[in-house]
Amino acid sequence: MNIHEYQGKSILQGYGVAIQRGLVADSADEALEVATRLKEQTGTGWFVVKAQIHAGGRGKGTVKETGSHGVVLAKGLDQVTEKVKGIINGTLVTAQTGEKGKKVNKVLIAEDVYYPGESEPSEYYMSVLLDRASGKYIVMYSPEGGMNIEEVAEHTPHLIFKEEIDPLIGFQGYQARRIAFQLGLSGKAFKEMTVFVTALYNAFVGCDASMFEINPVLKTSDDRIIAVDAKVTLDDNALYRHKNYAEMRDITEEDPTEVEAGAAGLNYVKLDGNVGCMVNGAGLAMATMDIIQLSGGQPANFLDVGGTADAARVEKAFRIILKDPAVKAILVNIFGGIVRCDRVAQGIVDAYRNIGEIPVPIIVRLQGTNAVEAKKLIEDSGLQVHGVVLLQEAADKVKEVLGA
Ligand code: GDP
Ligand code: MN
Repeated sequence: MNIHEYQGKSILQGYGVAIQRGLVADSADEALEVATRLKEQTGTGWFVVKAQIHAGGRGKGTVKETGSHGVVLAKGLDQVTEKVKGIINGTLVTAQTGEKGKKVNKVLIAEDVYYPGESEPSEYYMSVLLDRASGKYIVMYSPEGGMNIEEVAEHTPHLIFKEEIDPLIGFQGYQARRIAFQLGLSGKAFKEMTVFVTALYNAFVGCDASMFEINPVLKTSDDRIIAVDAKVTLDDNALYRHKNYAEMRDITEEDPTEVEAGAAGLNYVKLDGNVGCMVNGAGLAMATMDIIQLSGGQPANFLDVGGTADAARVEKAFRIILKDPAVKAILVNIFGGIVRCDRVAQGIVDAYRNIGEIPVPIIVRLQGTNAVEAKKLIEDSGLQVHGVVLLQEAADKVKEVLGA
């Protein structure tokens, strides 16, 4: 689950990670109110107004309606309202949103932490993730922080460092010191960085995150180390351990069809192709998508109906696939291990009857438990469904119906 920057920061703060402080608002009036309160709390005179959307690149992004960037500075309380009006309720387009952009429903009013002082503020990059291949956590970091880590990776990859952490041993003091050293820090900033990265690791493990990306981590002009940005992804499979995070979900940021599918227990991801697929099991779904591609089609979705697919669920899956106008054919590929093929077949027949005319050809491959009964059910129904046995036959049939 993805969450907003302000929510990610509140989790980090709970684990003792120093953050750029701020308050969230959903209107220009409220923004002025919270800025006033923030000024009382922090003594800050300048503020940064930050669009809250589930996408990065906001600083360089542009609000379609106003031309404002998605992260802007307000040099005093008197500028807050105007700056917020340039962003709130607008459509922010960034390198990560696509041309359509994302509607901004909330802004974060944060203290300006790039104030002048003894030294220049410096921006670093830091992320924490799980490396599935080695089974270890990784803290990835770079002295070249700020907005364009992809460019650093492309042009100066030697400036990206990795610290591997064995989850059973935990994050060690020497690792924190190595990170601070590689970032070129000394004195107070060095010490603060070791505290920062240790707290960050504890937060990552503690909240069951699957990814943290803090870009930038800032060294202020008075050598404090703080998180200015926070991209936090929580592991869905661990959400049951954190009931209080459920309210952080913002479904306006998610694809509505995916939300509907999720509520029905279907694992659905919309893609850009023309062949809808309904499969049980993620591995088989991937193989099916491959075979669609090899036969000249493009998968329109990933859909895993799960191990307990019954008629009702199959019908729901059909309805969801058919919401996508790009779908020109549907390939059903079910292996009856736990699930019984005849139940799936019944689902297909019911879906046909209940939905009415399904306007695209359906190719069905049912293999395994009760496959014979399933085949008979479909044949007896008199529906225009192409039954196949082998995966290759399915691929050929897809090719044929697409006219590829
Ligand atoms: P992103 O563009 O979506 O990654 O959003 P960030 O939160 O990383 O902000 C983008 C950029 O805005 C940062 O890289 C900073 O350069 C700038 N920025 C963020 N906070 C402040 C601030 O308090 N003061 C100033 N002057 N600039 C800031
Ligand atoms: Mn950022």
